[in-house]
Amino acid sequence: MLDAILKPKSIAVVGASRQKDTIAYQILDNLVTWGFNGSVYPVNPNAQQIHSIKCWPSVSAIPEPVDLAVIVVPKQIALAAVDECGKKGVKGLVVITAGFAEVGGAGVEREQQLLAIVRRHGMRMVGPNCMGVLNSDPAVSMLATFAPRMPRHGPVAIVSQSGALGQSILDYGEELGIGIYQFVSVGNKTDISGNDLLEYWADDPSCRAILMYLESFGNPRRFAELARSITRKKPIFVVKAGRTAAGARAATSHTAALAGTDLAADVLMAQCGVVRAQTVEELFDYAMAFPRLPMPKGNRVAIISNAGGPAIILADACESSGLAIPELAPDTQAAIRKRVAEEAAVRNPVDLIASARADAYREVIRIVQQDPGVDAIIASFIPPLGIQARDVARAIREAHQARPDLPLIAVMLGKKGVPDAMEELVEAGIPAYVFPESAARALAALNRYRLWLERPAGTVQHFPVDRAAADRIIAGARADGREKLLEGESLALLGAYGIPTAPWQVVRTVDEAVAATKRMASPVVLKTVSRTIVHKSDVGGVVVGLEGEQAVREGWKRMHTRVKERSGVEPEAVLVQAMCAGGRETIVGMTRDPKAGPLVMFGLGGIFVEVLKDVVFRVHPVNDVDAREMVRGIRGYKLLEGVRGETSVDLVALEEMVQRVSQLVGEQEAIAEMDINPLVAFPDRVVAVDARFRLAR
Ligand code: ADP
Ligand code: MG
Repeated sequence: MLDAILKPKSIAVVGASRQKDTIAYQILDNLVTWGFNGSVYPVNPNAQQIHSIKCWPSVSAIPEPVDLAVIVVPKQIALAAVDECGKKGVKGLVVITAGFAEVGGAGVEREQQLLAIVRRHGMRMVGPNCMGVLNSDPAVSMLATFAPRMPRHGPVAIVSQSGALGQSILDYGEELGIGIYQFVSVGNKTDISGNDLLEYWADDPSCRAILMYLESFGNPRRFAELARSITRKKPIFVVKAGRTAAGARAATSHTAALAGTDLAADVLMAQCGVVRAQTVEELFDYAMAFPRLPMPKGNRVAIISNAGGPAIILADACESSGLAIPELAPDTQAAIRKRVAEEAAVRNPVDLIASARADAYREVIRIVQQDPGVDAIIASFIPPLGIQARDVARAIREAHQARPDLPLIAVMLGKKGVPDAMEELVEAGIPAYVFPESAARALAALNRYRLWLERPAGTVQHFPVDRAAADRIIAGARADGREKLLEGESLALLGAYGIPTAPWQVVRTVDEAVAATKRMASPVVLKTVSRTIVHKSDVGGVVVGLEGEQAVREGWKRMHTRVKERSGVEPEAVLVQAMCAGGRETIVGMTRDPKAGPLVMFGLGGIFVEVLKDVVFRVHPVNDVDAREMVRGIRGYKLLEGVRGETSVDLVALEEMVQRVSQLVGEQEAIAEMDINPLVAFPDRVVAVDARFRLAR
């Protein structure tokens, strides 16, 4: 369906103008000048010809079918023009005209009417308030924007939510020699969104990479679904501006407190293999490397430079972004040693020193290419007196011909003579950068993309659970007018979803507590049960390690006095729980993003969770591979795996609990946020001892 917009056979320019300094003229001029492969019909009731082309008084007067209408009329008559297009049977629209929802007030209403007309006629629309579309494929050759020129044809499809930024993206791409396939400025995204374009480009073999500039995800879940499958075939790069306003939400769980405002977007993109760029510049660092480089087989990088400084910057940038700079094999070092100056360093980074000529680059790169411990090479050059960057570029290119399957990136620092050298490299398919950090960043991103491609997709598990029991607990709390589940309700809810809890019982009197203790046959913990107290230990509401009747009676008294003192309220009841000592404390939680849905968290738990902040998030649903990555992805993973001869905790059980929580929050939409803290992990099992749930109003 989007073919009518991106591969039209005929285009009407509605509102075409003779005045050369107008957008309306520019668009018609661009279509003609850049040789659109189809018919063009200017529409303007006050002109006979524009640009030597016969002009039509109205769309309906055009005798032939029209695939696409580009609307450039003033906003006051835009709706009527669009309606006429619908009557004529036009299939696609690009509405350049502004003055809709972006101006607020009457504009919002005008935009709704516009969409209603578009829908009524079964048309599709890009815009309004956009800068147009282009398709550089020679078979189409459509420049339906007011950009000054057609970009060079290539494999990169671009969608931009900002017209101005779209223009600078095109300019920047041109400067870097990046070929563009199609470009769509989506404007207000009233009908066609970034997601529609993702879908459209998914199976188009001419599109080999997708660049997106987004200010918002219209529908993050659909984006995730599409991106997850597309990134298996071609990379998607996103610059996402704008932050989600989650700040003001009342956060009672650790999970909500730990989820930063832009977290959902970040997690969502990482989880579907999207490469996120922070800036447009970074976006193009990636666009320079990805289509040109073969996929590296691993993350080991050799650096070859003619100066120490850039070599160190490169090495640091590589290592801090997940690449390794291993020492080269002894044979490799010996072979390099034979060809370079005595002062040169040969271990990695290789520093050829300033006297190195082009030949040295060629030969040393060829030697390093033979080293089986190297997955990619970065060659960096800073022009010393008397050595031509062009010669070095040629030498790098020649060396590359011997091993085109091994990723090779060039960094050409400094100004003089470097632009031609860079062009020479880029033309030979070698990404070339001015800054070392850009090269490292791009290679690191490519390496992460490799890991994504190698990663199994995973499956979402469905555990048999007692949903009815869970429903009853939630309904009970609601009937009681509470958002907070009481301590016993929380643990019972976990039980309904197959999450093991330490034996517990809620009691009203100290005698009941003593009786419960006897049944549990272990040291116990007493915990305050309250409608209002959220963090029990903060108010002295948790007394641990009580053994025997005497201790329980004393603990009971101590707890009641402290809670009364510090919170001003009496415990409503007490939860007696068996002690679970000696395990590792972890946390599993969830907070709901208004658009992306539940964000599930795993991390190191206990009372210091917000201090340590050692947590990982994923967007619901969490599958088995996600859960595995979460448990293994925290900084303190070694503590779970066991340090100095300790046995590992039950990692499989932890992964299962993360997935059970994911299922729980997916099925029980009333849960606004929750966490299990701590979920105590032992070598043979995991046990939840505390959980907190807040229900949606
Ligand atoms: P809160 O988080 O509301 O302060 P918790 O029930 O999590 O209350 O108790 C606080 C801390 O006490 C836990 O982080 C844990 O270290 C310890 N604790 C609580 N219950 C047990 C238990 N059954 N066994 C061992 N330690 C416990
Ligand atoms: Mg707790």
